[in-house]
Amino acid sequence: MASSRAVNIRLPPLPTVRDLVKLYRLRALRQLSQNFLMDERLTDKIVKAAGNIYNHYVCEVGPGPGGITRSIIKRCPKQLIVVEKDPRFLPTLELLQEACKTYTKMDIEIQDIVNYNLKDGFKDVQPHNWFEAPPPINIIGNLPFSVSTNLICRWLQAVSEKTSAWSYGRSSMTLTFQKEVGERMVAPPGHKQRCRLSVMCQFWCDVSYKFTIPGTAFVPKPDVDVAVVTLYPLKRPMVDLPFKMVEKLVRTIFNMRQKYAIRGASRLFPEEDRDILTAKLFKLADLSYTTRPFQLTNEEFVRICYAYKLICEENPGGPTIDQLAKIRKTHLNPALTTYYSKPLAL
Ligand code: SAM
Repeated sequence: MASSRAVNIRLPPLPTVRDLVKLYRLRALRQLSQNFLMDERLTDKIVKAAGNIYNHYVCEVGPGPGGITRSIIKRCPKQLIVVEKDPRFLPTLELLQEACKTYTKMDIEIQDIVNYNLKDGFKDVQPHNWFEAPPPINIIGNLPFSVSTNLICRWLQAVSEKTSAWSYGRSSMTLTFQKEVGERMVAPPGHKQRCRLSVMCQFWCDVSYKFTIPGTAFVPKPDVDVAVVTLYPLKRPMVDLPFKMVEKLVRTIFNMRQKYAIRGASRLFPEEDRDILTAKLFKLADLSYTTRPFQLTNEEFVRICYAYKLICEENPGGPTIDQLAKIRKTHLNPALTTYYSKPLAL
């Protein structure tokens, strides 16, 4: 069998994407964030960033006229599901479906990705244990800007709950975002772009900013440049707590980005107990009162999350400190367990 690196087959002669857009009069719709990539070198580069997809199960989000789709099918995945909201692209996608039918099963779903359950698309995949090698599943897409941030938050939640595509294991994502959004996703502590999205992405995934595509490469040209970002779910997420709780906490703290983090954190508690509980939170988490939200490290956010959980559950029916320490030791990044083995005395 050819090595996975070498697989890059030639497609049968097809009209170019540009010709098809003209032929079918596929005028880009702003409300669907349609900006098409016509340059094959760039679509190849995006697909290459996803790593080996030979014989894999791939889902492409928003294929549009099919530029990235062509680069995907050249690499011979076993199955390709394309999810596109705009039915005008059906003829151009059917053309590609026909072109690759001898080696790739291509399914076309004309629907909104927001309502599409990726679990259904990958029914033929044998689930992989989360802690073993990732399953042969890749999610790829030049995402519509209008849904990209919302979509990545939903998918991070699915990663945290091991549902959807992540019920099969640690499926990878290679996606485009507005350049600033991509920078936020990877921003380290202290970086000017550090925000809620940075912490949420880095809690659950290994995030990598691959390269920038200038806005001029798209038709029509968007007002911004575009980032290609890969996300690989972590074997051990930095935090193993309910996604919604973590999201609420991180969002509340970043709501007052330029103030000390303690100001935002105080909004987590009812007004009457605010001062005492916020002080307790910061003491439990061993944090300085003069750190600003964007300066907090992921580990410090983890400590706040667990301290917050502890405070919320301090009632007769809640778990004991011992039980919480056990949860932490089992699920936390090993580097943090030393901290959590310290007594939690106030
Ligand atoms: N992949 C193509 C390319 O790179 O040239 C098109 C990318 S364009 C930025 C985004 C695509 O996503 C469009 O085809 C658009 O119709 C589609 N789209 C927008 N909203 C969508 C949604 N909610 N669900 C699925 N597709 C969507």
